[in-house]
Amino acid sequence: MTVLVINSGSSSIKYQLVDPESGEALAVGLVEQIGEGSSHIKHTYRGEKHEFDEPLADHGEGLRYVLNLFDTIGPKLSEAGIKAVGHRVVQGGNHFDSPVLITPEVRDLVEELSPLAPLHNPANLRGIDVARDLLDVPHVAVFDTAFFQTLPEEAARYALNREVADKYGIRRYGAHGTSHQFVSESVTEYVGRTDLKQIVLHLGNGASVSAVVNGKAVDTSMGLTPLEGLVMGTRTGDIDPAAIFHLRRVGGMNVDEIDNLFNKQSGLKGLAGENDMRAVWALAEGGDAHAREGLDIYVHRIVKYIGSYAAVMGGLDVIAFTAGIGENDDLLRTEVVERLKGFGLTLDESQNAIRGDEIRQISTDESSVQVLVVPTNEELAIARAAMEIINK
Ligand code: AMP
Repeated sequence: MTVLVINSGSSSIKYQLVDPESGEALAVGLVEQIGEGSSHIKHTYRGEKHEFDEPLADHGEGLRYVLNLFDTIGPKLSEAGIKAVGHRVVQGGNHFDSPVLITPEVRDLVEELSPLAPLHNPANLRGIDVARDLLDVPHVAVFDTAFFQTLPEEAARYALNREVADKYGIRRYGAHGTSHQFVSESVTEYVGRTDLKQIVLHLGNGASVSAVVNGKAVDTSMGLTPLEGLVMGTRTGDIDPAAIFHLRRVGGMNVDEIDNLFNKQSGLKGLAGENDMRAVWALAEGGDAHAREGLDIYVHRIVKYIGSYAAVMGGLDVIAFTAGIGENDDLLRTEVVERLKGFGLTLDESQNAIRGDEIRQISTDESSVQVLVVPTNEELAIARAAMEIINK
């Protein structure tokens, strides 16, 4: 029994064929540069990577190509017992607090929400439309925002004029919710307690933090869009919105230029010249002052959120590090936990240095807060959510 998980971007289709019970990914692939002349396709099956360059004009051609790879290279979808397709959808607005079977009405609602996620929802929809045409199984949408629909109004509503905010749907929707939910549930299982106050740090190229009490999200750093919050690979995270007025009035920049500056030319890339954390460390270790300062700003922002979320929750039991940086960067974790020494947090350095794919504790048993590294797996979470829906 398997689920095909599709994450469709503006010019890409990422996919995984997942066994939701064992958690095994039977095949993993990516189609890039769709509609850009020559597309690049990677398909990995049984540990072997197959790569191709083909002109693929649109997502329909892209997915047809992928389905053909399943037939010729394997695994054959019919023999793999495909039961559903799970689609990642970035913005579910206030309509979706859990995964849903995609009906024509759901499809139209996702389209209606596009103005709130202009870079993501139209791309997600393209994947949904072509996959529904080509694969005659139930299709399920899993929303990045759903986990944060439990946020209390005091956390979700900005102090923006109520009429304007409501008219334009401006509020905190959050993002990376599938990962925050998967990780916080893994923590609950690992610790063996449901009454936990957790902070989940999803530190990847995009980065976000959430506060989770008894399994429910009570605050998160991403807002109307994934721009708000932590310092990211190329995004500013928190910044005074008046910087936009200033760049408009004094810098003469237009809205698209500012959007591009904040989303694509800032964050670690804007501070240190590199968006990849490994490259930033390499620069800093070579004595580059801007890279070192970039790391300091990155850590400062994380620590600030930890303090504020501990206050919001009235206590803190667990900090969970996840995603590319959270799972792999022991130096970064050390810097974060070191700054929290005053609150009784202590790191077990040998545990922290260990690499692994398993959830593990990196704090000492005496630490006031349990610090964990928790591998995230959004594809598996989507596959399991899809199976749950079709089993209902
Ligand atoms: P993700 O978006 O979750 O795939 O994470 C991507 C980020 O993880 C990039 O900034 C990578 O540099 C970072 N990353 C991956 N492996 C390591 C590592 N061993 N040390 C530091 N950063 C890493």
